[in-house]
This record gives sequence, C-alpha cells and structure tokens, in this order.
Amino acid sequence: MHSIRKGVVTFQRYVFPQHKSLFKRLAKLQTPSAYFITCADSRVDPTLITHSSPGELFVDRNAGNFIPPFHGENASEAAGLEYAIEVLKIPNIIVCGHTDCGAMKAVLKPESIKHLPACAKWMVNGAQALREVTSRKVSEKQRLAVLTQRNVVAQLGHLKTYPVVHAALAAKKLEIAGWVYDIEHGKVLEYNPGADAFEILQL
Ligand SMILES: [Zn+2]
Repeated sequence: MHSIRKGVVTFQRYVFPQHKSLFKRLAKLQTPSAYFITCADSRVDPTLITHSSPGELFVDRNAGNFIPPFHGENASEAAGLEYAIEVLKIPNIIVCGHTDCGAMKAVLKPESIKHLPACAKWMVNGAQALREVTSRKVSEKQRLAVLTQRNVVAQLGHLKTYPVVHAALAAKKLEIAGWVYDIEHGKVLEYNPGADAFEILQL
C-alpha cells in the first residue's frame, strides 16, 4: 500500500499543479469522445495507448473485456451504456482486447479455473468466441490470438443487443470499433468487418 500512497502524494505535489487548468475545467464537466471497454489487466492503459488525457475516455473494465448480451438484468453494463449514450452523447465505443490475456487463457482451459467458481461463471461470456475457434480448426499456436480477436468481435455483437446502442447506431450517432492491443510490440490491431479480419490500426 505504501507505494500506491506515495504515488498519490507525487501526483498531488508534482503532476496536478502542471495540469491545473485542465482539472479546473473537468471539475464541472466531462465530454469524453469514447466509451472504452477493455480488460482489467494492469498492462492495458487506455489513456496511454490512445494518447488521451483525463476526461477523454469513459472506461469500463472487467476480466476479458466482456459485455454480456442484453437481457434486461445486466444492470452495470446497461446503466453505463445508457448514461454514456443518452446523457454524455458519446459518439464512439471501442472494445479492446489484448495479448496474453488471462481471461482468454481461462476460456481456452476451463480446467485451470475449476477452483474459482466466480471466474468460471464469468468466462461463459467467452463461449461464443471459443466455439468459433474450435470450428475454424485453428492451430494450437494461434488459438490464444484468434480467440482474443474473435472474443472482441463477439462482444461487438453483444453490444448491438442493447436497445440504446442499437438505436444510436441506427440514427448514425454512434460508431463502434474492435481492437486488440499487442503489449509486447505496442501495436493495436483493428477489426475490419468487410474483411472479417484484424489489421494494424493506421490512419
Ligand atoms: Zn485480459
């Protein structure tokens, strides 16, 4: 705990004073440009990899970057999306998976989390992607990478089951994108729906 507390003190002493005007503006208003859904993994830093500042990303994180399909009862996801789209009018949603994801490894090897009942239940959200990997007869070496990509695609599909997302897409007020962040190489792959493939994100 000490090092975390030390970090807070450093922020207050040295970082905050340098960005005082930004925080003064943010104190009363947020106008994020994207709703960023990603894994809880400590190595994924949405602000860093998108070169953003505080106030620019509305972040929703969980193990596996899952968005369960809408069924009227998933309060956390539904409430977050509703607020983001209806109130904040966020025009972009990004689902971002990443390399070496522990959740994806667990989806591939459910026996490894047999002793973790809550994790085992949550990983059910990766079942659709796993079925795709199995049906595509992916090589052992590529299974994790392909599962990670197909999981992002599956979650993009789940997103569209939320009435608020569906309506905003139909009204062309919302754009959604699927990414996979490569930790080792600092690259982001983006899903191209036309090709049904992931490609290096570039302008
Ligand atoms: Zn992860």
